[in-house]
Amino acid sequence: MLIAGNWKMFKGPGEAGEFCRALRDADLGTVDVVVCPPYVSLAAAVQALAGTEIGVAAQNVHWKADGAFTGEIAAPMLRELGVYGTIVGHSERRQFFGETDETVVKRIVAAIEHGLHVIACVGETEAEREAGETEAVLRRQVGAIADGIPETDDLVIAYEPVWAIGTGKTATPEIAQEAHALVRSILDVPVLYGGSVKPDNAAELAAQPDVDGALVGGASLDLESFATICRQASHS
Ligand code: PEP
Repeated sequence: MLIAGNWKMFKGPGEAGEFCRALRDADLGTVDVVVCPPYVSLAAAVQALAGTEIGVAAQNVHWKADGAFTGEIAAPMLRELGVYGTIVGHSERRQFFGETDETVVKRIVAAIEHGLHVIACVGETEAEREAGETEAVLRRQVGAIADGIPETDDLVIAYEPVWAIGTGKTATPEIAQEAHALVRSILDVPVLYGGSVKPDNAAELAAQPDVDGALVGGASLDLESFATICRQASHS
């Protein structure tokens, strides 16, 4: 069971270091834990968590090892910092920054090639769900990944229905289970659930047979709520 905290564009280096020093002493149960700070806070997080089992991952990575790509960060740079992995294809990247299935695959391939673990995000929008297109969207998004990457143990998928991200609307455990089973039938890797995971819904989501953990946004920014989610998920 893996619980990953996606901090999005929150917590600069000072706050990240402080949070991670407190995380060292928190009761996180028995789950694997990863935090994903913004790029500028990665070094502070790595330093604060050195010698612990808690991993530090980035929120994105470029597909080239270096080059004229203003504003982008390469996998070897993350490795040099001691970063363990990266999120790829978050819906906010797909929605606001032009990420496509094709660029998602390129980023995953490069990350794995350079020794990073990947959390690759997929999920349907509200309009797609209402139009009955959830299965087609997941088949397209996960299929592109399955077809485009080499066999690896360094990939997990995060099923994140876009309508549940930051909205307070969580998928029911049944909706999550159905989507996770579909994802796993296309690509047999662990599948995390993401979308308004909170201390009071983490246990029932984590109890679903095809839910292997959670990618937590808003609720990962507060130490007590993140630690409680980790402990709740530990019981399943
Ligand atoms: C996310 O950012 O991946 C996420 C799931 O956000 P939230 O938990 O805030 O919905």
